[in-house]
Amino acid sequence: MPYEMPVTGTDIWYYYICKRQCWLMAHRIAPDEEDENVEIGRFIHEYRYERGKRELDLGSVKIDRVIKVKGELVVREIKKSSRFLESARFQLLYYLDVLRNMGVIAKGELVFPEERDKETVEWTPEKKAELDKAVEEIRRIARLPMPPEPKKISFCKKCAYREYCWAEE
Ligand code: SF4
Repeated sequence: MPYEMPVTGTDIWYYYICKRQCWLMAHRIAPDEEDENVEIGRFIHEYRYERGKRELDLGSVKIDRVIKVKGELVVREIKKSSRFLESARFQLLYYLDVLRNMGVIAKGELVFPEERDKETVEWTPEKKAELDKAVEEIRRIARLPMPPEPKKISFCKKCAYREYCWAEE
């Protein structure tokens, strides 16, 4: 079987924010350590709430908590804001898919305590098809000899690759 790059929940998260960042991460290009803004990894950890003790490590994904609600398993992700909603949805969907591949059927729940809001994320064949496309795309982007051109987005302000992408500005 040909080698397939493992894709993590973090890859999925960044894919829905910036394709260039996916490439930079896949190629282990170190972000600017001196950046006073939040860099890779740390940002996601802070964007998530209360990580730690109850984290479930499934190899390519780390799940915050799995609870039982009315007899159903629910993977609950607590976020500080709904700002990166599409990324958060697909990252959670990816967790549900990994669990499904292990024979565990669960629903997802995104919780935004500071906004007093939550959202249910459910695995469906349609969403799975979109997720599979994203995974394929992440692998395709990683194989490119050069990173995709930078595109200015609001996340650039928080991104530790800022200097790398926009040094001449
Ligand atoms: S600075 Fe902007 S374009 Fe560059 S990797 Fe970060 S988010 Fe992407």
